[in-house]
Amino acid sequence: MVSTSFKNEVLKKYHEGKLAHAFLIETDDIDRCYKDVLDLIKQINCPFEYVEECDKDCNLCNLIDNDNLPSLVTIEPDKQVIKRDSISELMDKFSTMPVFSKYNSYIIKEAHRLNSESANTILKFLEEPEDNIIGFFITNNKENVLATIRSRCQIFYCKYDLGNNLSNIDENYLIDVKLYLNSIYKNKDDLLYNKTRMSGYYKEREEWEIFFYTMFYYLKDCYMSLRTDKIDLVKEISRDNLLKIILLVETIIKYIDANTNMDMILDKFVIEMRKYYE
Ligand SMILES: [Zn+2]
Repeated sequence: MVSTSFKNEVLKKYHEGKLAHAFLIETDDIDRCYKDVLDLIKQINCPFEYVEECDKDCNLCNLIDNDNLPSLVTIEPDKQVIKRDSISELMDKFSTMPVFSKYNSYIIKEAHRLNSESANTILKFLEEPEDNIIGFFITNNKENVLATIRSRCQIFYCKYDLGNNLSNIDENYLIDVKLYLNSIYKNKDDLLYNKTRMSGYYKEREEWEIFFYTMFYYLKDCYMSLRTDKIDLVKEISRDNLLKIILLVETIIKYIDANTNMDMILDKFVIEMRKYYE
């Protein structure tokens, strides 16, 4: 199950005492993802040993199941928009410490529907995070979430409909992508080699765009353990770094779209990329 990897990752950070205070989750199924987030909130807050589910007659988990826990707030769009009032209400509510649970938690369903007023209001939570507040932003397209919010969240992908991405990949480009990633990984000290090798690949900007999109989907599939054809680079680096590379590739695609000089883009890619496999 793909969603478990998201939950496990957050739980791991929680047990290490390194829990982020805000998460942005891009998913292809908002309702399922919402249920998974609720489950995660239970696991973090439940006072008992929680494996798979809480098997005690536990007040806290019952309150969450019945949508009655005061320190858990779900915000949903009202007629396509999440309005500022809902956010202000949330902030008032969370100005005090939680009583029954460890955290005050909020979930914003369809976070791409925050309008600019409500988004700016919630930014206060994100700019001055309090240790006892955690937030989950769920969206089907994180590009439509305000960049200032995005940059303050830890980003996750949670895909439920498996196999879709796999068929979108052009196999010829995928061969190039793998060759390229393998070669820079094996020649990690030779930046010039990496750059020259790559410059010769394509002439057209459109080809580069497909190349990086292919890389993006391939790495994303690897991250979600959908692929058996993982290359060494993917197998050997940490999951954190793999995610950072995926985000880097996304940025690179944006540069290509913005018509930035292709040579400069490739320079940036090889230099930035290097940070994550050393
Ligand atoms: Zn419980």
